[in-house]
Amino acid sequence: MAGKKIDKKDIAKLLSQWSQELAVYVPSIESGVATMAKWDGKDTSFLDWYRNTVIPTKASFFPSAEEMFRFQKDNKGYHIELPPSNERKQLIFGVRPCDARALAILDMTFKEAYEDPYYLPKRSSAVLVGLGCTNPYDSCFCTSLGISPAQSTDVDLMLTDIGDEFLIEEITDKGKELIAKATEVKKASKEEEASAKEVKEAAYQKVTRKIDTEGIGDRLLACFDDQDYWERIAAKCISCGICTLLCPTCYCFDINDELVRQQGTRFRSWDSCAFSLYTKMPMENPRAEKWRRVRQKVCHKFKFYPMNFGVIACTGCGRCIRLCPVNWDITQTLESVPVKV
Ligand code: SF4
Ligand code: SF4
Repeated sequence: MAGKKIDKKDIAKLLSQWSQELAVYVPSIESGVATMAKWDGKDTSFLDWYRNTVIPTKASFFPSAEEMFRFQKDNKGYHIELPPSNERKQLIFGVRPCDARALAILDMTFKEAYEDPYYLPKRSSAVLVGLGCTNPYDSCFCTSLGISPAQSTDVDLMLTDIGDEFLIEEITDKGKELIAKATEVKKASKEEEASAKEVKEAAYQKVTRKIDTEGIGDRLLACFDDQDYWERIAAKCISCGICTLLCPTCYCFDINDELVRQQGTRFRSWDSCAFSLYTKMPMENPRAEKWRRVRQKVCHKFKFYPMNFGVIACTGCGRCIRLCPVNWDITQTLESVPVKV
């Protein structure tokens, strides 16, 4: 496909044009935490500091807390009121390839396993504009999961930093349509396309942390009942849940009612299999001991999700390594899984 390009200084104009029709979200710092937030109409300083967000892009479609409906009780019974569905379609600018892949993985749960009425409308109407990652963290290991840090087909448009400009690839018809109306976009030369290719290759080489995923599911299954092994693996975990809440492919949620007198609101909010109270409300937690919960987190991503959907539910984004308060490291765990004989 023929490449296009835009001058970096014109990004604000491009975002402004898109803002006419869409709710544009860009990497932002909110309360000290990097997240995707509504663009303020002028600031593009994220182009200088942005590596990846702390809050994964899943939050745009599956927020940490979401109103499901309101209810009221009177002498005739309960009355349910659904939240208004007048949200503008979202354009998320700057999605990293690992997070774009995570959304494709989440779709399998929220679209194939069942049709989630809260996630799907937001997700299917959204436009994703990917931005190649050229400065991965030490904790990133996306290349071991078949992801290239500066290349993605899980977005609608893909941008690559080639100096003063971004090369733009049109990945989907939705992306093509979006760029067709953008007045600041120009045709890229063959040299600029070659330069983008070099940038992508260099970015790939910068991801030096590697894991061996060959046969990982079977190896995990082979040591599944080795309690001593999992107790050693889980020893320093403090069950804070951060690694799962901020994992872009984790999707567990809890449901709670906030009730005042005869009326209330039902919310769903992120939950974590790392918590000892997880699933306590509908039944007992089948994983009372910490080692069972840590085992679940690892095996779910590398054995059970592949069994159900044919893909590993980890993108190597490295958040669980960067953000764990006790430096628990999933790559060390995967390395330590005994080789099956
Ligand atoms: S972030 Fe670290 S300490 Fe917290 S649950 Fe995950 S592994 Fe355990
Ligand atoms: S398990 Fe860790 S590295 Fe893998 S997707 Fe989740 S947060 Fe990222």
